Amino acid sequence: MKKSPQQEKLEALLKSSKFSMCGFMGDDKRNLWEVIDTDATAIEKLGKKQEEIAARMQHLTDLAASGLGDWVQVGKNLQVSADDNRGMIPCPWPHHKRCLKRITTARHSATGRTIRWSDLNIHLIKEHGFFEGRGSPFRIEPQELVKIIFCE
Ligand SMILES: [Zn+2]
Repeated sequence: MKKSPQQEKLEALLKSSKFSMCGFMGDDKRNLWEVIDTDATAIEKLGKKQEEIAARMQHLTDLAASGLGDWVQVGKNLQVSADDNRGMIPCPWPHHKRCLKRITTARHSATGRTIRWSDLNIHLIKEHGFFEGRGSPFRIEPQELVKIIFCE
């Protein structure tokens, strides 16, 4: 598929360091659409939808925020906490959406595995199906994410 000028522009934008220190694409050699496509396939295999994953992340972030920096127990095996960063970061897509820089950490207590995301990650997954490129500091592996946030 030939890329539109707008897609080209967006890709250049995502590779730049303009919006986040290391760029949303990290050192991923794939293009944006390949990254999104590959993760969409992974999510489908897991039997989840991106909206469902984002909704669960948002729910956990809301619970975590109520802990004011302390761990909040969710169900039997999950603990979540959120920092109180009130700074804002813009979505790189051209639609003037800004999200909190707040970071939520989820910990699976049985295995000790943790995963973290920012409010922007939630938006990127929900609206754009984008988990960021490999090597990006906020790259989220869909398999790992689903395993942790949907654990009972
Ligand atoms: Zn956006």
